Amino acid sequence: MAIFTPDEFDDHESVLFFHDKKSGLKSIIAVHDTTLGPALGGTRMWSYDNEGDAIEDVLRLSKGMTYKSSLAGLNLGGGKSVIIGDPHEHKTEELFEAFGRAVHQLSGNYIAAEDVGTTVEDLEVARRVTPHISGISEGNVGNPSPATAWGVYNGLKAAAHFRLKKQDLHGLKVAVQGLGNVGFGLCQHLADAGAELVVTDIYDKAVTRAVSELGATAVDADKIFNQDVDIFAPCALGAALNDDTIPQLKAKVVAGAANNQLATDKHGEDLMNRGILYAPDYAINAGGIIIISHEGPKFNRQKAMDQVAEIYDTSLNIFKRAERENIPTAKVADEIALERIQVVKEEQAELALAG
Ligand code: NAD
Repeated sequence: MAIFTPDEFDDHESVLFFHDKKSGLKSIIAVHDTTLGPALGGTRMWSYDNEGDAIEDVLRLSKGMTYKSSLAGLNLGGGKSVIIGDPHEHKTEELFEAFGRAVHQLSGNYIAAEDVGTTVEDLEVARRVTPHISGISEGNVGNPSPATAWGVYNGLKAAAHFRLKKQDLHGLKVAVQGLGNVGFGLCQHLADAGAELVVTDIYDKAVTRAVSELGATAVDADKIFNQDVDIFAPCALGAALNDDTIPQLKAKVVAGAANNQLATDKHGEDLMNRGILYAPDYAINAGGIIIISHEGPKFNRQKAMDQVAEIYDTSLNIFKRAERENIPTAKVADEIALERIQVVKEEQAELALAG
């Protein structure tokens, strides 16, 4: 199985494989880039179809974290971890302690947090054996998902402002795919703002809750793409925007929480060519990492959430530059993120020379 040759491999600093026979832990930790600081990123637990899929996922996600933290102006690098297993069936305390020991081996070069399939409680078990865990109750941040939802909401508002010329979301129709921690939180903000919701999830209980609590209209999972809506918000897993789904979209804006929404870079161009404004995923879903970066004894939730709301301005800047240069928004986000890393690399090189 190839590690260094897949497209997803992007000069990652390290990719580590951990196995603990007793607990059954099979985990991969990828550290993409630590120019800006220690690599911080969530731990995904998922029943991957095969091990190659898990490797690809951790490589893509860790790279995404480098770009996300850089664009958000944080002094953090990019990393991510995956645990191979079904989060509904294979979770034990032993498993998360073994995972904590794995994280500890990186001596703080990688800091773990929650992601799809893991919870604050799981990470608190890992925290028993390593201090290199964030997003737990102890530092007062707790689950970062509400901050992520707040950031996505602000990015979505910026996109509606820019593309639909709407200052507020009242009466706009939004299709939301995935009603988990972030998707449901986003729906709550949207409902409060007077938006009309069309929702789907493969988990029936989440859908029932959105219908009864938020007045949402439910549709089947494969029908969410061609809804007659203004905005499509992908909040489930990656690659929701691909050759099959993009031609179905009637929305003029795509703005959601999921990581790696574009199946490939070409799909960012496809959206632009169809006149659909894409709010780059890692630009608008950075709320979680922003609040975690505030973790510590002086943690002030309001201050952190105010910084999360700055995602509105970050998004507007991306949209304006993309329009000016006539290039996809995702490309602009990448350029801004890389520019900051390049500046720091040059400063570090100068310091090394001077020293
Ligand atoms: P979650 O596991 O709580 O929710 C995901 C939801 O999507 C689940 O309810 C699941 O049933 C549903 N789903 C999966 N496949 C689906 C499909 N094909 N159609 C419809 N629904 C489907 O995860 P989350 O924490 O809400 O994260 C959602 C996305 O946002 C993920 O891509 C995650 O990586 C990203 N993200 C999350 C955070 C955070 O703070 N939690 C931060 C940044 C990015």
